[in-house]
Amino acid sequence: MQKVYARVIIDISHEKVDRPFCYKIPCHLLEQVKIGDCVEVPFGKGNILRKGYVIELMETPDFDPDLIKEIESVKTGIQVENKLIKLAYWIREEYGSTMIQALQTVLPVKQKVKQKENRILLRKCTKEEAALQAEFCEKKHQPAKARLLKALVENEEIPYPLLTGKLHISASTINSLKKAGLVEEINELAYRNPLKEQEMVKERKILSPSQQRIVDSIWSEYENNVRKTYLIHGITGSGKTEVYMALIEKVVSQGKAVIMLIPEIALTFQTVMRFQRRFGERVSILNSTLSLGEKYDQCERAKKGEIDIIIGPRSALFTPFENIGLILIDEEHENTYKSESMPKYHAREVAEELARLHGAAVVLGSATPSMESYYKAMTGEYGFFTLKERLTGGTLPKVYIEDLREELKKGNRSIFSDRLQELIQDRLNKKEQIMLFLNRRGYSGFISCRSCGYVMKCPHCDVSLSKHANGKLVCHYCGYEQPAVTNCPKCNSKYMLGFKAGTEKIEEEFCKRFGEVSILRMDRDTTKTKDSYEEILSDFMEEKAQVLIGTQMIVKGHDFPKVTLVGILAADLSLGVGDYRAGERTFQLLTQAAGRAGRGELPGEVVIQSYQPEHYSIQKAAAQDYESFYQEELMYRRLGGYPPVSDMLMVQIFEKEEQKGILLGNKMKEHLKEYAMKNRMLIIGPANASVGKINDVYRSCLILKHKDKNILKRAKTCLEQFLSTCGIEGKIVQFDFNPMNSF
Ligand code: ADP
Ligand code: ZN
Ligand code: ZN
Repeated sequence: MQKVYARVIIDISHEKVDRPFCYKIPCHLLEQVKIGDCVEVPFGKGNILRKGYVIELMETPDFDPDLIKEIESVKTGIQVENKLIKLAYWIREEYGSTMIQALQTVLPVKQKVKQKENRILLRKCTKEEAALQAEFCEKKHQPAKARLLKALVENEEIPYPLLTGKLHISASTINSLKKAGLVEEINELAYRNPLKEQEMVKERKILSPSQQRIVDSIWSEYENNVRKTYLIHGITGSGKTEVYMALIEKVVSQGKAVIMLIPEIALTFQTVMRFQRRFGERVSILNSTLSLGEKYDQCERAKKGEIDIIIGPRSALFTPFENIGLILIDEEHENTYKSESMPKYHAREVAEELARLHGAAVVLGSATPSMESYYKAMTGEYGFFTLKERLTGGTLPKVYIEDLREELKKGNRSIFSDRLQELIQDRLNKKEQIMLFLNRRGYSGFISCRSCGYVMKCPHCDVSLSKHANGKLVCHYCGYEQPAVTNCPKCNSKYMLGFKAGTEKIEEEFCKRFGEVSILRMDRDTTKTKDSYEEILSDFMEEKAQVLIGTQMIVKGHDFPKVTLVGILAADLSLGVGDYRAGERTFQLLTQAAGRAGRGELPGEVVIQSYQPEHYSIQKAAAQDYESFYQEELMYRRLGGYPPVSDMLMVQIFEKEEQKGILLGNKMKEHLKEYAMKNRMLIIGPANASVGKINDVYRSCLILKHKDKNILKRAKTCLEQFLSTCGIEGKIVQFDFNPMNSF
């Protein structure tokens, strides 16, 4: 029987239409309509033409055939892949959202722009000449020119978007080099250099025995049609990327596509060029500096088979490749792989489902694997490999743990322990670089009354206001601003004192103690513009400053060979945030921060200051001992019934009126009561969220726990039905499985 009916989802972002509607396919369109097609259909009483997506074709209708309307037309040119629609279905079922939200997550941005030319800057002189010129420009204090020339020593050609986006080279800099005849601008479309192939081959490293073993094992399973997920545990610099590239090469040679996820912050110029040198124009990059139109172009190129490899953040998963052979996730433990808006999906899990749909393998890599992945590796669900040695040389740094309580007893009231002060002075004398890391976001400066303890809070959010350098009080959640106060609004005392924002305060203290030193500071305030993050890092790289003070941002990505001292000022601040991942996150951050010292020729030292130096996250990070951290953390997760041992679903409630959230939470709990009893599912709450109010919206939550995720998924579906019969909108209740952050 011919399939003459179609289930169509209407492209309106409203829950009421979050179900497929059945349409008849008219004869003249029968040949044309396929799953994933965008069609125009008459909708509602007025039969207004709406756009929709075909998600299923059927022989018989699920609706009275006499009342069924016909599809009006098929929109050509906006074909979406069948597999992506299937994936959207899965995401919707797995994480809870409307089908429309799920589709919007996976479908390429439908925005066609004029094809942009792929401009490329080409080196017109020899490597040696470029290096010489770079040195010359450095002496003349022309850092941008020097930076560009140095990049050109390594790379004969550099695409324009990278020049402006990642290297911060202005048009005038490029022009002056053009005038000097050192570079030339060309159009990629018109340009094919036969030499390029050879250069690309030269890039290949001979793999070490342990690298080769990983590639061989994965590849032999791949060739035997075994498809699974592998985890590579290896410290930074142990050669993971080289393993990825060897695998990519093999998969691509079989005509399959590869998706490689990298946290955007780690997608540095060096990484991008490394891949482009190896894979040439068959690789493309997605990042937030691309416009919607440019992103769409990348999707088009992927669909047409013009590229085989895409590198980007979690959304790169949805690149519409026809046939994917391998999905790689580097730094798989990163928080940014989890979406913070509906559907709240985790890239690792979606990657595994996508791999299933395509028959692809998944490779995860990290120096500090997530508890989830390591657990699966240990239980044998994932293939598991380790890389132990750093290939770039450099020895592991010496780590000291300093007890801040003892410092206080000794009478040291500064934020630098005696040992840290001593080592800072030593590095300042030796003219070596120092990184100081504050283990929390930059906005801890709050204002309180020293007399009655009153804290200045945002009137719209349940958080304290921060004092900025310009004197204003600012809310970091909603942007509310007010002038500073002189008297306490509660007791009218004059002692309203501010604690400066963390990193700013450290800078001030540092200058007081060590005098005039060139310092760069990196936090939310100094990195407001898109490029400032990389600018600060490249300034530090060029040794324009001896000290870099910052928050988590400074521990990711770049390598600084001249850094020989890393100070972690208050290691336990991230332990106090009260969610079950705090210990894991602290361990990851400290391990990464400590790993910043001693990357080059010079040996490094690390000072970890803490009020709870005995905490296992701190002890194990200092010892760089992942395995025993994992064992302790797992014990704690087991006791608390947390992932990866047990799954958890956080039902988040957003209400404009304070009482309504808890009320709704109780209703949902009541609704699930029987189900929970039957399945021995634990329900905790409802309770106020840790940030009880943001932007005048009250937040509360309900937590469900069970060892079997399917029990939780069914509970979620059950709640979705309940909410829709109550007429409660999707915006009010959101679902978050195994949340990454405290709510
Ligand atoms: P990771 O991804 O684990 O940080 P990389 O693959 O980037 O490690 O390797 C770290 C450094 O070692 C890079 O500079 C890389 O070029 C080099 N390297 C990696 N594998 C080899 C190898 N087999 N032989 C020589 N150098 C290598
Ligand atoms: Zn007061
Ligand atoms: Zn606010």
